[in-house]
Amino acid sequence: MKPSEARLAPLREQLVSTARRACRAGLMAGTSGNLSIYHAESGCMAITPSGMAYADMTPEDIVLMRLDGTVLDGGKPSSEWKLHAVLYRELPAVRAVVHTHAPNATAFAVLRRDIPCALVEMLLFLGGSVEVAPYAAQGSAAVGTNCLPILRRKPACLLANHGVVTTGATLEQAYTNSIYVEDAANIVRLAMSTGLPIPAVIDEEGSKPYHA
Ligand SMILES: [Zn+2]
Repeated sequence: MKPSEARLAPLREQLVSTARRACRAGLMAGTSGNLSIYHAESGCMAITPSGMAYADMTPEDIVLMRLDGTVLDGGKPSSEWKLHAVLYRELPAVRAVVHTHAPNATAFAVLRRDIPCALVEMLLFLGGSVEVAPYAAQGSAAVGTNCLPILRRKPACLLANHGVVTTGATLEQAYTNSIYVEDAANIVRLAMSTGLPIPAVIDEEGSKPYHA
């Protein structure tokens, strides 16, 4: 193992344990979803591999690569590696990215509807409503560039007809944000399923009427 790889070993372990947590929390179905951490000092990204069951994944399976796609160690990276690379290149404060197909949030993504800011936790942790980024073909860099106008302002967004992306200064923070998005989507969906209108959303100024 090269010295740089030894330095990145803890990141690989963190990615595997967080991926397993995400799987247990119901955020990922099958081999869908992907997680990464960016090590800015070395310009290296550690990312989950392509098409591997999370239960079978070991730290050695995590791929170390540069943002230009050069693989430094490991096999085939996640098919969505360009999404992660674009976000690290354009958003200097971001050090971790979590992409899931969490079912409740992805239902909003399929409807191409923002998750309205109906909960105080959304305002505190997600910067308000969770907005939908325009559709882009799976695996293309456009998946990332389409998110940028939202992710420059907020740590979470939906991908039209696809899933969810959250960012953080740490993997723990990006992961927790993905839990908040799914929790908010679930609660708002339950409220909407009553057939009653959502009377109000909130922002920094307080509560205001909501028009869907
Ligand atoms: Zn995806």
